[in-house]
Amino acid sequence: MTLNRNHVAVLGATGSIGTATADVLQHLAKTDPDGNWRMWAASGHQNLPELTKIAAQMDSPPQRLILSSPEAAKSFDGTDALASKYDVGVGTNALVDVAMSPEVDTVVAAIVGRAGLESTLAAIDAGKRVGLANKETMVVAGPLVRQMMAKSGSELLPVDSEHSAIFQCLGNWASTRADTRADGTSGDSDAPANHAPKPRKLILTASGGPFREWSSDRIADASPADALAHPTWEMGRKISIDSATMMNKALEIIEARWLFDLPADAIEVFVHPQSIIHSMVEFDDGSVIAQMSPPDMRLPIQFALTYPRRLPSQSPPLCRKQSYDLTLEPADHGRFPALSLGFEVAKAGGTAGAVLNAANERAVGLFLDGKIRFTDIAAGCRDVLENHTHEENPSLSRMLELDRWARVEVDRRFSQ
Ligand code: NAD
Ligand code: MG
Repeated sequence: MTLNRNHVAVLGATGSIGTATADVLQHLAKTDPDGNWRMWAASGHQNLPELTKIAAQMDSPPQRLILSSPEAAKSFDGTDALASKYDVGVGTNALVDVAMSPEVDTVVAAIVGRAGLESTLAAIDAGKRVGLANKETMVVAGPLVRQMMAKSGSELLPVDSEHSAIFQCLGNWASTRADTRADGTSGDSDAPANHAPKPRKLILTASGGPFREWSSDRIADASPADALAHPTWEMGRKISIDSATMMNKALEIIEARWLFDLPADAIEVFVHPQSIIHSMVEFDDGSVIAQMSPPDMRLPIQFALTYPRRLPSQSPPLCRKQSYDLTLEPADHGRFPALSLGFEVAKAGGTAGAVLNAANERAVGLFLDGKIRFTDIAAGCRDVLENHTHEENPSLSRMLELDRWARVEVDRRFSQ
């Protein structure tokens, strides 16, 4: 499929996924002239010099830059020498505006945490193609996202490497699933028209993080620096801590539940420290299909942008002149209690995802500030989750209310 125009808005352009996306867009602009690729808009939270640096690196610089932090917005008067070269929008509303802009064809949702929710939902509501890195949107509002996709016809392509892997292993089953129907329901038949088989299990792989081989006692004393030292991926701070607690896998279980619309008990986790098998799908006959490649986020980002086309990428392929060990081992829910939370919340649905996500974001912040211990993160999340009264079909505003409540609850628990 070749579009006459491919204007991409990269929300969270200054982050780890954002800069990798800029790299992919530069590569595509050079190697796929028919694709008409262009980073049309880019956002960063408060660092204008960093944002303009990314913009300046693009052969065809973005039309619009957004500085999303309300504080940065207050002090921005438009006369900044850096800003005068660009059309700069400020504040969170500017994110939503650009996500819905008719000038934008694809939105890469790469803001970290709940802060990415409104702009991602706006892009889905406006029927854009969305490259979804911001897994928190699916955790907080998965059912709502499905409803919106069915109405708007938005295509949601996973950027998270595990979900991209599963999407690739599922082939037509996944795309049929994401299809919308005239009656507004999603394609949820067990036997889609194209006869692609329904999966029996989605098997998410997990690197196990930096504490995979640590004892419980040692984990309890882990410092922020220990937890930030991820063995296979270089990522932003929040997701690095999430990987150390394995809350990242918990969020990914919930993300998979809503993205592929399968029940929680169809999802499993296998620890794979080399991060080469990005995830797997098991079918009824016992056959398991895996997607493999050396760890490099540019590959799932590019696939989300170019799907269904596969184009040469910058990611190095598996090297046939070296040996690889591919280890698979069971996940340890004892040392990593966040994993059980992921399955429970995926099963519960309703308000549980919003509460878990907010409690975790707040607890990760407190841990990074040296205010709580590493093991307090998952324990605090469980407490807050158990203290909330579950609701089956919450509105978006109710979920946002519970998001605020859960953060206060975490503070209250740890200030005692
Ligand atoms: P990061 O911390 O490196 O970057 C975050 C981006 O969001 C930055 O551009 C920052 O300016 C912006 N931002 C921060 N707070 C904001 C706020 N309140 N409002 C608006 N913008 C804000 O994070 P990352 O590692 O790139 O992760 C981004 C998202 O992608 C997360 O949801 C993460 O779970 C997901 N993800 C990341 C990776 C990875 O390899 N880094 C892999 C899979 C999924
Ligand atoms: Mg992932």
